[in-house]
Amino acid sequence: MSGFRAALARATARSRAELQAAGRRRGQPSDLGRRLSHSGAAPARPSFGIAFDIDGVILRGRSPIGGSPQAIRRLYSEDGTLKIPFLFLTNGGGVPEHKRALELSELLGVNISPAQVVHGHSPYRELVNRFENDLIIAVGKGEPATVMIDYGFRKVLSIDEYSSYFKDIDPLAPFKKWIVQQADNKNMKSEKVHPSYDVFEERVKGVFVLSDPVDWGRDLQVLCDILSTGGLPGSGRGDQPPLYFASDDLEYQAAFPSERLGMGAFRIALESIFNQVNDHQLKYISYGKPNPFVFKNAANILEKLAICMHPSSLPTKKVEGHQFSTIYMIGDNPKVDINGALKAGPPWSPVLTRTGVFRGKDNDPQYPADLVVDTVEDAINCILEKECIQ
Ligand SMILES: [Mg+2]
Repeated sequence: MSGFRAALARATARSRAELQAAGRRRGQPSDLGRRLSHSGAAPARPSFGIAFDIDGVILRGRSPIGGSPQAIRRLYSEDGTLKIPFLFLTNGGGVPEHKRALELSELLGVNISPAQVVHGHSPYRELVNRFENDLIIAVGKGEPATVMIDYGFRKVLSIDEYSSYFKDIDPLAPFKKWIVQQADNKNMKSEKVHPSYDVFEERVKGVFVLSDPVDWGRDLQVLCDILSTGGLPGSGRGDQPPLYFASDDLEYQAAFPSERLGMGAFRIALESIFNQVNDHQLKYISYGKPNPFVFKNAANILEKLAICMHPSSLPTKKVEGHQFSTIYMIGDNPKVDINGALKAGPPWSPVLTRTGVFRGKDNDPQYPADLVVDTVEDAINCILEKECIQ
């Protein structure tokens, strides 16, 4: 069994029970194994794949938009088998991929495999060996520490938990009426606070921002402390531990009518403040679209998915070493989705919708897409017609 297949099988087994329960609730078949491999006469492996952005294309908040459930269903055969290889390529995250797959399955009415969900922070998996036994801090909404533990990191604290152990680290905490847990931990200063390590002695060796930070004021303060002191707030100056961002989106489309500030905006705030209070520049690495690495990784996943769907058939076309002649990137953000697909080059072909950040009448002048449509349903109709799929 190949590494990808083994990973797919593991991920599938893990969420199979949950997905089957979701399928039963919807009265639909939920056999992922059957969904990923055709029975009967084996059709040719599709010559194209699709990557969907989520926010502003598939969902706004938690509500499906642009006919997304109908559009996604067209990528499955009537028996529930996956017909066209596709995945979700989002800069969002904060929850494990298997959990997001379940949520998308329920919202869209099809069975999505965890292997079809690529978050901004999914590449953090590749860093496990480097930080395996180091204390690291996970930042962002959702369950950032759970995600990192899922990836294999061993000593992980969320910034919520970490901050709560340092009395007075956030002088504004008493004014934040919504914080309850912090009050519970406020007298733990001199105690060994964690079964396996002591946050007052052990330096933080890495900081990972997985999703949009919730308490910007506190997080800016605590991250400046960690990053300026070599990983031990309250101590003297020290070398900056490595800092990673899952994406660098300045803005994104959420439930509110106009765009909201994203992780890129938080990065600018942190960098600006850090550079003012230190005599050296903040160092960091950002993943996520439009980084071409993300598109290369997504293309590899799509190709493996296509092989799993059709193990015995060869691709109908092979262009310049690629399994696909085209991979469509359907997104709403020219700077992120369209720019990324353009930078990645063939076989990527960007498709821009008007359901999110972009609302223009014509194409985006700076990052022109190959196709501009109103909704994701229009995008799928155009793509399937072009690819001669019923
Ligand atoms: Mg978007």
